[in-house]
Order: sequence, then C-alpha cells, then structure tokens
Amino acid sequence: MVTADILDKEVKFLPGVGPKRAALLEKELGIKTFRDLLYTFPFRYADKTRIYTVREITPSAAYIQLRGKIVRSAVVGERRGKRLTAILNDGTGSIEIVFFQGIKWIQDKIIVGNEYIVFGKPVLFNGRWSMAHPEISTVSEAVTSRPFGSVMIGVYPGSEKLRSGGITAKTFSRLVMVLLERHLDDIRESLPETVIRENRLCQIRTALKNIHFPSDMHSLSAARYRLKFEELFYLQLSLLKQKNARMKGSRGAVFNRVGYAFNFCYRKLPFPLTNAQKTAIREMREDMRSGKQMNRLLQGDVGSGKTLVALFIALIAVGNGYQACLMVPTEVLAVQHFNSISRQCAGSGVKIALLTGNTKAAARKEIDAGLRDGSIDILIGTHALIEDNVVFKRLGLAVIDEQHRFGVAQRAKLRFKSEIMPHILVMTATPIPRTLAMTFYGDLDVSVLNELPPGRKPVTTIHATESGRGKVYRFLKSEIGKGRQAFIVYPLIKESETLDYRNLEEGYRTIVEEFPPPEYVTAVVHGKQTPENKAYDMALFAEGRANILVATSVIEVGVDVPNASVMLIESAERFGLSQLHQLRGRVGRGPEQSYCILMTGHRLSADAARRIEIMCSTNDGFELAEEDLKMRGPGDIEGTRQSGLAVELRISSLSKDSDILLHARKAAARVLESDPMLESPGNALLQTQLEKLRDTGKGYMDYSKIS
Ligand code: ADP
Ligand code: MG
Repeated sequence: MVTADILDKEVKFLPGVGPKRAALLEKELGIKTFRDLLYTFPFRYADKTRIYTVREITPSAAYIQLRGKIVRSAVVGERRGKRLTAILNDGTGSIEIVFFQGIKWIQDKIIVGNEYIVFGKPVLFNGRWSMAHPEISTVSEAVTSRPFGSVMIGVYPGSEKLRSGGITAKTFSRLVMVLLERHLDDIRESLPETVIRENRLCQIRTALKNIHFPSDMHSLSAARYRLKFEELFYLQLSLLKQKNARMKGSRGAVFNRVGYAFNFCYRKLPFPLTNAQKTAIREMREDMRSGKQMNRLLQGDVGSGKTLVALFIALIAVGNGYQACLMVPTEVLAVQHFNSISRQCAGSGVKIALLTGNTKAAARKEIDAGLRDGSIDILIGTHALIEDNVVFKRLGLAVIDEQHRFGVAQRAKLRFKSEIMPHILVMTATPIPRTLAMTFYGDLDVSVLNELPPGRKPVTTIHATESGRGKVYRFLKSEIGKGRQAFIVYPLIKESETLDYRNLEEGYRTIVEEFPPPEYVTAVVHGKQTPENKAYDMALFAEGRANILVATSVIEVGVDVPNASVMLIESAERFGLSQLHQLRGRVGRGPEQSYCILMTGHRLSADAARRIEIMCSTNDGFELAEEDLKMRGPGDIEGTRQSGLAVELRISSLSKDSDILLHARKAAARVLESDPMLESPGNALLQTQLEKLRDTGKGYMDYSKIS
C-alpha cells in the first residue's frame, strides 16, 4: 500500500488558506494542491543580505534595506491625497518614507525616536530621497521574520484580485513557509538517488526550501539547478521513452530493395549527390528495411538539397510497390516540386500527380481513382492531401516538407491513410537549435545535411534604407544586365493584410515604372491571385522570361530558381530572423555571386536592428537559429506549450538552459538504456512521476499515439 503523497493534498487544507482563498488561488494562479503552491517559484528575489546607508544610495539603486531612527511623522493631505510621511535618519543622511494606504496601521506602528528597518526602492523626488510603501519592521521583527534564516526574499506573482482577496506577496510567502515548516520532512524525493548522485544535485527538500527561502546566492543557484534539471530530465525521459515505445510496437512496411526507378533517376542526375545527401539516404534506407516504422527528421540549411533526398526516398517506396506522398505548405511550392520531380523522373515510368485545394473536380476524380487503384505512385500536394477523402491503395511513405507549417495533429492524420502506418520523413525548412530539435522532435531520429552542394558562393547581405533606394535599383539593373534575375519581396502579416497588399501593389507599380517593359519583364505572385495567374507568373519567372518577381512572402519557403541572384526584401524589419534567412536562401543557388538586400526604414527597434545585424554577419542557418532563440527568449516557451510539450516548463528555459538540458537528456538516456520501458521495480519512481506529469501536465500530447 502506497501512502498518499502529501503534495497531492488540496491547498484549502493548509492553515491560513480555507475555501475562499483556495478558490482565489486556483482562479488566479491555477494553484490547487500543495504541490502547485510549492512549485510556484519566486520570479525574483529581494536581497536583504545587507543594510545600506542613506549616503550610499545612487539613482540606480534597486530594492534595499535601510536602518535608522524615525525623526518625524505626520499625516498630511485630504481624502485621496491623504498620506503619511515620516523621516528616517541613519546618521549618514535622511530619507522620506511615504504611505498612501494603511495609514492608520502604520501610524500605530511607528513611534518617533525608535529604530526601524525599512525595505523598498528609493527614488529621487523633488531633490530628496523618498521611498513609497516600504516594508517596515522593528529591528527585532526583522530578525525573527526570516524564514529558515533566509535573507533573500522571494517575490511571487501577484494580481490585484489576489491582493484584494487578502493574498499579498507577503501572505503568499507566508503560506509557502507554513507548508514547508509543517511538511518539509514529508516531501518525497522525486528523482532516483543515482541520478541525484551522478549529477551532483541537491535533494528535493533542500531545493524546495532554498528556492523559496535561500540563505545566499550559492544555495539559490544549487536549488535552481536541481529544479531545472528535474523538469528537463522528465521532459526528455518522456520523449525518449515514447520513442522506445514506438520502436517496440511499431511495424513498418519493409522496403527490401532500392528498385528500378531509383537507379534510373540516380543515373540521370546532372550532378553527384553531396556526401551528406548520400548519408541521409542511406540512414533512411536502413530505417525502411528494418521492419520498424521510420520516423525521421531531415534537418538541413536552406539550399542543402532536401528535396532530392525526399525524391529518392520516395522512389524506394515506389520500387517496393508502395505509394508515396509529399506534403508542402504552399501551392506555389507544390507546383514547383511537381514540375521538378516530374522532370527528374521523366522516362522512369513513375506516375506523379499534383493535388491542391485548387484542383478542379474532374482532375480530382481522376486522381482519386489513380490513388485507389494504385496507378499513381507519388502524390504531391498541400494540406489537401491529408483530408479524409483522400484514400491511397498502399501508402508506404509520407514526406512532410517544411515542417513548421504542419502541426502535430496533421501528422497524426497520416495514420489513417493506410493499413500500416506509413514511414514518415519530416523535413525542416529552418535549422533549429539542437536543444529545440531534441525537444520538439525528441521522439524522432535525425539526419542532418551539414553540407551545401559544391560551388555555392555565400550570399552577400547588405542593409539599405530609403535614401539608398536609387543605388539599389541601379544595382538591380546591372545584375539584370548580366542576365540574372531578382526577387522583390513585401511583407505580409495577417493583421494588416489589406495594407500590405496595397504596399505590394504600389511597389509593383513603382517597379514597373522603374523597370519599364519591354526592356524588363516583371512578374507578380501573391495569395490573392487566382491559381492560374499565380502559376502563370511563377512560371514566367522560373523559366527566365521575367527578370523580376514581385511577391509576398509566399515565396518564403522552397522556391527554387537558380538563376536568381538578387533578393530584395522590403520592410525587412517586419520579418523574423528565420523568415529572412529563408528568403535569402532563395538566392545563392547558382554559380554566380548572389546578394540579399534588406531594405528598412531609418528608425529601427533594438530587436529589428539586431536581426538585421545578425543577417548581415552570418549565412549559417544554425548559428542564426541559436541567435533567434536567444532573442525571442520567453516567447518561445509559449510556443512550446502550444506544440504540446509533455511537461510544462515552470522554471527552465529551452533557450537559456541548454547546458542543463543536455545533461538531463544524457541522464534520461542512461536510465532508459538498461530499462527502455521503465518496467523494472527500481525505476518505479520514474514511472510514477511520468504518470503524474501526464495527469497534471497542461497541454499534454501523447506523441506515441501520433508517430
Ligand atoms: P532545400 O534543402 O532548401 O529544400 P533544395 O532541395 O530546394 O534545397 O535544393 C536546392 C538546389 O540545389 C536545387 O536547385 C537542387 O537541384 C540543387 N541541388 C540539390 N542537390 C545538389 C547536389 N548534390 N549538387 C548540386 N546541386 C544540388
Ligand atoms: Mg526545400
């Protein structure tokens, strides 16, 4: 019989809480149990390690403690302006302390001539130091009110509703203290001893006590480390275990041979594959003949040749009598892939079809029939191809290009496309930092294309503003004069779509004026065109008949026109880093020197300026991704929640704690090495903790059900 875990107890049973405050805590902070309370950590600490003097105060002083005599005290003003002011003198100088609320209580407390300790933030007001609403205590109070001897005081999340319901930051801290004083010894260790020892972590009791009431910086950082480690450890443990479960249970179509089509197309290639491409294909080939279902992520910088890898993998499926599908995020891209893959497969006998939201009913009917009777080998398309009414005869492989546009749920739909779960290859458009890859795709195997096809010259990136526009246009003309082509891209952001389209139209007019026909031909592509017009203009540019392509960011992903050597991005400050990098990746695909010109306004926010600077300083997508993550910081945590992390991150950050993450992952892997499904009695604790997280975790998604 397992005894109940004290931390599962409802918070209303804690002395000082009761039903009313419990309801408030739940509503405002989501706190239901002792655990929730204890795992609501201070978001900063007020340092009470020392007492300052008035003379030492500088304008940049944060919250500080002062100790001195109250030399005067008075209530002044009327009604709303009513306040209590007092002067505290510590021998080096004096400071005014002011209270607008609780005047009566303070009045009773303060005795002129006595010594007090105040704690607050000094500000310069009318030429003198002043502190509004400091904590004030007598000297003896100050000493006794330090729970566990702590001198760093935690500051907790609060709200107006909490305060008016009687839960101030101070009350909150007291509740935590009561809980710890009563039950600290009942709290169970939540990590196995070996993990604690091997990673030199402190015990959970120590960690919880010190995260709330640290006695110094050292104990605080040890506590933080332990709690972050634990969080990331369980996150990785759940991902890796799911991967094990998948490996164990999954059955995949067995592709024994490479097949005729593969060999035929391979021989026809106008260039050799890069070593990275060969390795990736080999890894996938191993997966697909293992009898297990493949679940692989192909990461590679823009232009590294992911599409070709996908094609050859698809040809293996075809060579083994299966169908394959390739899903891409935009229609433009689907059409492009359809065209290039059709070309590459010409003469091989492989039948390829294109299905998008715009496919006409008659063509659609034909495709449906071809998919059902198995005469279509490879289907290329947008979201349309995972709709329920698309039925394959024998789908063996699904490739998802540019994954960031496809949610986990969409991946899940593939499951129902075939009797046996098809092999899955996910390709990311944007390199993502290792730690994120490990987390978002923690249950996938990873292949990396860490090599660009030979002969590519790094793109030169230039920042320009309006005053340099004339020069930029002259530059475009000289490039076009050499037979090259240029992209000009306008931002498109949902909120201001109408305005953006107006900008695009205006831009298009300016360009046509500046680059007049018949000398220049300008094509235009955006989301509001009919599919026919879009395809027409896209082809105009792709086939080299147009010199310039004016477009919205629909061309962001995937578009491949090797002869284009200039990418001009208008209002570049409005794009995110990964988008800018994707856009830049549209050029630099041929043997010529290519340029990316970032056009911005004169005034830039600090963030935008930094993005432009990073873009101008590196071409390396992985480096960029790291920077992006650092810059976006906490924002990405929201993202992780949406993408369904198994564990809610309360204290650790995927962007800032990558070192801890790596250690935690290693530790989790070590545990699973000898016990892949956590079945041994020795790992019962881990299994229980995982189940607990699954029950309480917000937005929990069971990956094992998906892939
Ligand atoms: P991405 O990885 O960004 O999807 P693509 O698959 O669009 O890259 O490939 C970019 C370009 O590189 C295409 O024009 C493609 O034909 C070309 N390419 C791919 N592999 C090679 C190779 N091994 N050698 C030369 N060019 C290649
Ligand atoms: Mg691509």
